[in-house]
Order: sequence, then structure tokens, then C-alpha cells
Amino acid sequence: MAFAGSQKLEEKLCCCICLEIFSTPVTMPCGHSFCEKCINSHWDKEGEEERPSGQKVYTCPECRKTFPERLKLNKTVQLDTLVDLLRAGEVPAPREEKTTPVKGKECPRHGRPLVLYCRTEKRVICSECTVKECQDHKKVLVEDERKKQEELVKETLRKTQKEAERLKEETQKMEQQISSVKVEFMDPTPNKTSAFCRNSLFSIHFPLVERTVKIHSC
Ligand SMILES: [Zn+2]
Ligand SMILES: [Zn+2]
Ligand SMILES: [Zn+2]
Ligand SMILES: [Zn+2]
Repeated sequence: MAFAGSQKLEEKLCCCICLEIFSTPVTMPCGHSFCEKCINSHWDKEGEEERPSGQKVYTCPECRKTFPERLKLNKTVQLDTLVDLLRAGEVPAPREEKTTPVKGKECPRHGRPLVLYCRTEKRVICSECTVKECQDHKKVLVEDERKKQEELVKETLRKTQKEAERLKEETQKMEQQISSVKVEFMDPTPNKTSAFCRNSLFSIHFPLVERTVKIHSC
């Protein structure tokens, strides 16, 4: 292993649909991430399903949270960078069954192993890049950048989770408010609110009655 803790990191960067390390990771409002192509094919299947209500439902395969609409998710850039960094930091174990190199392990420009991270271009680079395109760029060790990105990703995921919790709380509060208004309206004891509700209902209803009467009388 290239560095301690990369096993745990690898688990975090694993898509629960294909069980592989993310390729183009996207993150849902519930905080769960998947490969873009995996979540899209999951939603393609859900979109084909015929539901009795006729309504389409899109879910998160991990927590089963439902979304009324198919979400348009953008690539989670930080996760994607972290995947690149993880791949660049991997010690290539000699595997006979795998003759084709793992995608993202070589420099797409020069085909050499990725050794450094260019902060200017925000990508992992090879030794040839360091003396050519990235000569005047700010470069750091892959491992240093990985640590930094890992912290950033943790922070982002924590924030997303918090935001999801806040939204859930807000929805619950709104539901409580709606049900308390309903109770008050049904309550026969006269009080200001229900009287107000009845009055406003009457003011909507009354002109309608009046108009109906007029139509009938002519
Ligand atoms: Zn996947
Ligand atoms: Zn989820
Ligand atoms: Zn290169
Ligand atoms: Zn560069």
C-alpha cells in the first residue's frame, strides 16, 4: 500500500452500485455518491417502471430516499480529484489477469505514470508534464494533495449531510404546522383563527353563490 489509510479511503470512494471506485462521481442531496453512469442507469430502470399512481419516483439506491423528479447532478469535482489522486498514489501490484492499465493511472498526454499534482491545473501529472506544460506551475506531492482533498471531501460530505437533516427538520415542522391548522379549523369552538378561516372561506364562497343565483334568475 502506498500510504496508510488508503484502504479506508478506497471504501469511501467506492460506488455501492458497481462496487468499483467512482468514475465521474455525483453526489445526491441525501449525501450519497455514485458513478454518474450507475445512478443514471438506476434511474432509467425506475423511470420505466409503471406505478399505479402513474407518478414516477426516483430513489437513492443507498438510503432509499425518494425524489419526485429525476435530479440533474453535476460531477462532484473534489471526489473526482480524490479518485485521481488515489489512483496515482497506488503502487501498481503485478496482476497477471490485468494486462490493460487501470484508467487514469497514466498521464493522458504522455502516457507516463502520474507522480505529482499540479495545483495550477488541478490535475495529476507525469514526469514529462513537470518539465514541459507544468514547468512554471505550482506542483505538490500526490500524497500531500490527497490529504488536503480528503479533508475537503469530508467537510463537504458533512455539510451535505447537515443540510439534508436541516431540510428534513423543516419539512417536519411544516407538516406539523399544516396539521395544527387543520385541527384548529375543524374545532367547533369559536376562536379568532377558525372564525377568520370561516370568514375568509365565506368571502370566497359567497360571491359564487350570488353569481349562481343571478344566472338562475335570468
Ligand atoms: Zn458505479
Ligand atoms: Zn441516499
Ligand atoms: Zn504528462
Ligand atoms: Zn500544470
